[in-house]
Amino acid sequence: MFFQWIFGREHYKASYGTSAWESFKKLRSNLWFRTFPAFDTSKWGLPSIGLRAQAVKVLPFNKQRMGSDPLLVRQTVPFKEAVNLVRHSVESIGTADGIDIEMVKFELVGERYSLLFFPFYCYALKGSKGKSMLLVDALSHKVIKGTVDVDEIKGNPVGDKIPYRPLRFLPFTCPNCGRDFPLKPHAKIHVCESCAQAWQEQGGEYVSVPYRVAAADDSSGVSWKYLPFWRLTAAIKSGQAQYRTLKEFFELFPLPRVMDGDALKKRNICFYVPAFRIRDVRAVDKFAAQLTRKQPQFTETAFSGNEQDVLYDVWLSMKDAKEMAYVLLYSMTNKDHKKTKDIVRDAELHFVNARLLWLPFMEKGIYLRESQTDFALQKNAIELD
Ligand SMILES: [Zn+2]
Repeated sequence: MFFQWIFGREHYKASYGTSAWESFKKLRSNLWFRTFPAFDTSKWGLPSIGLRAQAVKVLPFNKQRMGSDPLLVRQTVPFKEAVNLVRHSVESIGTADGIDIEMVKFELVGERYSLLFFPFYCYALKGSKGKSMLLVDALSHKVIKGTVDVDEIKGNPVGDKIPYRPLRFLPFTCPNCGRDFPLKPHAKIHVCESCAQAWQEQGGEYVSVPYRVAAADDSSGVSWKYLPFWRLTAAIKSGQAQYRTLKEFFELFPLPRVMDGDALKKRNICFYVPAFRIRDVRAVDKFAAQLTRKQPQFTETAFSGNEQDVLYDVWLSMKDAKEMAYVLLYSMTNKDHKKTKDIVRDAELHFVNARLLWLPFMEKGIYLRESQTDFALQKNAIELD
C-alpha cells in the first residue's frame, strides 16, 4: 500500500487584486504493484514488462523443472537498488503554480518483493548482415522490439548462482491441536477453528501470537464480524518534545469535547492499525485515523470460541503495522494546526507494546459499524476472502 501525505499552502487572488493563501493537505494513496526488469534492458528496448505480475500464475523457482534448455538473463539490478527505484518512482511529486509544499510524508506499507523469471522465446537469426536474435514474449506471443547480441545470454552460468532450495512444506495444521487451518492463502496469521490459538509462520516454524477480542455490546440476536487491528502503544518524540500520555496526545490532536485531564494523564497513546486485507486504502486509512484520534477503551477478553467463524484474517504483520502507524499520525494532523505540523514533521514513534486485537462490527446496509464507537467502514473497502 502506497501513502503520500502532502501538506502545503495554496495561494490565490483575493478581492481588490490582493493575494491570500490557504493551507491544504492532500493524500495520494493506492494499492500499488509494479513489475520492472532486473536486468539491463538498454539493448532489449524493454522499459517494462507491461504486465500485472500478480494476475499471472507463478510457480516457485525450480531449476530442475525448468530443465537444461532455458537460458537465464543475468540479474544486474540488485535488491537494494530495486527498492530505491520503487521509492524514487513513487516519491516524486509534481509542482504547480501558486503551491508551496511544506511537508511531504511517504510510506510504503506491507511491501512484498519477488524476483520473477519471465519467459521469452529466443530465435537466433542468421542473415546477410550477420547474426541477431529475435525475442518473443512467451505469454502474449508479441514480438519484443529490439534485437540483442547472441552473446548477451549465451553461455551464461548465472543459473547456478540463483538461490534455490528444494521446497519444504510446513503442514497447514495447528501445532497445538492438529486441526487443519482454514485455507486462506493471504493470511499472515492463522487462527485455529478448534482451539482458537493464533499462529504465525517464522523461519519455517509456527510461533504462537497472543491476541485479545474486544467485547461487543450485548444486543442479542446480532451476529458480529470481528476485524483484526494491531493496537500499538507508542510515544511520539520530536526533537526535545515528547508525547506519552493521552493528555499530551490531545494537545496535538484535540477533540471537540473536554475530557477528564487527570484520567488522561494515566493513559498511554494507542494506534489502531487495520490488520485485515484492504481493498480501498483511503477509506480504511480514514477509519483508522478516526478510531485512533478517539482513543477508545475496549473491554478485552480472551476468545470465547463461539464466534470463530467471523474472525477475519490477519494480513498485515506487526512490522508493517508500525509503518502504517506513521501514516495515521499524518492522517490525523490538522492542516491548519501549525504546532502539530511542526511536531509531526520530525516525529518518531517509539513503540512500547503491540497487541493483536479483534474488534466487533455489526453489518448495517453497505456499512460495518464498530460496536463501541459506532464508526462506520464501507464493506467494499475490505477484502473479505
Ligand atoms: Zn488448534
